[in-house]
Amino acid sequence: MKLFSLCADEKHFYELSTLIREFFPLCKVVPERCDDVPGISLSGPDLPDVHGALWDEEGKEILSLSVTDPYEDFQGERWKNLAKICIFRLFVQGWGKKPLPWGILTGVRPSKIAYAYLEQGKAPYEIVEILKEHYLLREDKAALTAKVAFSERRLMASQDGKDVSIYVGIPFCPTRCSYCSFISSDARSFKKYSEDYLKALIREIRAGGEMLKGRNIRSFYMGGGTPTTLSAGQLELLLTECEKAFHLSSLLEVTVEAGRPDTITSEKLQVLKNAKVGRISINPQTMVQKTLDLIGRHHTTEQVEEAFDLARKIGGFTINMDLILGLQDEGMEEVRHTMEKVKELRPDNLTVHTLAVKRSSRMNELGDGARMLTEDPEKMADQIDEMILLSAKTASELGLYPYYMYRQKNMAGNFENVGYSLPGKEGLYNIEIMEERQSILAFGAGGVSKIYTPEKNLIERVPNMKGAPEYIARIDEMIRRKEEGLKIHA
Ligand code: SF4
Repeated sequence: MKLFSLCADEKHFYELSTLIREFFPLCKVVPERCDDVPGISLSGPDLPDVHGALWDEEGKEILSLSVTDPYEDFQGERWKNLAKICIFRLFVQGWGKKPLPWGILTGVRPSKIAYAYLEQGKAPYEIVEILKEHYLLREDKAALTAKVAFSERRLMASQDGKDVSIYVGIPFCPTRCSYCSFISSDARSFKKYSEDYLKALIREIRAGGEMLKGRNIRSFYMGGGTPTTLSAGQLELLLTECEKAFHLSSLLEVTVEAGRPDTITSEKLQVLKNAKVGRISINPQTMVQKTLDLIGRHHTTEQVEEAFDLARKIGGFTINMDLILGLQDEGMEEVRHTMEKVKELRPDNLTVHTLAVKRSSRMNELGDGARMLTEDPEKMADQIDEMILLSAKTASELGLYPYYMYRQKNMAGNFENVGYSLPGKEGLYNIEIMEERQSILAFGAGGVSKIYTPEKNLIERVPNMKGAPEYIARIDEMIRRKEEGLKIHA
């Protein structure tokens, strides 16, 4: 379906349209009734109940129903949630659509709702029931959400709203993956910009060290891009500057993404180890060579295995591995193969994503993403569902448990990304970025600092320029923006 009409309260139009697009990916939702276009109309928020009607492309009414609030809470979002329930039921009962596994939840952080109930003193089993009955989540998704919120709360118990974490971005990769939407530059731009980029980044880091004097820094995360695209010498220089500015060796956690196995060498790993980096990521996304070639990663599955071996020989690293389910041309057979390889490699953390079709990705530009999402969304959802179950089973066989989770828009099958970990090896930064209950200062191109004011429970975003050349040219402005943001929210 290309177009759908939604006649509803303007204030909530965007979120309600998002739910409609979860049933019909990439469909355009228009705010008025149009000829030859199916639609839904909803009564306004001035009435206690929500009444809705669904009509087909000929304008014929298929079903109308009312939703009454049987609950007391809904965390202050009563009308919006009732309207979502109404839309959900109209599609399921009127059009025979399959219920969405995430029910009426459309936000990126489903565990936020469960977290709020935990803070109200509800037990995890009560939260599972609330999520199923109020928010229409499927049993397994409700249980996952409650479990993740519970572990997030436990892991964040020592956090203070005044704490800060650090993000450093390296916007270079050997090649660009077809699903990537970051402005990550490839090997050629790396040659052209890397020296000037490092100079600008070090200036920003030094200034950041001054800004954060006296503040408690909890964790440090270097991502991108692929930080290990830098040479061993460049990495050493950068990490030495970070140690001077932020005292990495005394932080709770220091992570460097070494995502592309073809950028990893023993020299670079030794530099990371000397700098007290305790966590790295080695990300195959899939262990099927044909898919790796198709998505433009230009490395081999053997290189993934060699990188794991190398990191284990050098020792001292918690190793995370990222996978993506729903990649082009992959079915259960390919995912089964990948999971068997994962079991052999035994990562300490496993992050399982479902493919999200990003607007600025090559996959979207070529139209492959749209084709995948719209061809047969229900069949695709069933398949991804099966893949997710297999990945959860693999994680559990490896002794890993789910400790953080988020969702994105335009995800294959509208599912979720889940981070699994061995107990005691969890990545705190991953939770901090989801939780938004402390400041994160971001350095480098594409970084977005989040400055938190605990008294107001408010996050102010201060973005850096996205591309390396713009960042280099406007570095003074980046530093000034950060200083001002910190002063205003001191
Ligand atoms: S490795 Fe990551 S950042 Fe680099 S192109 Fe691929 S998806 Fe993008």
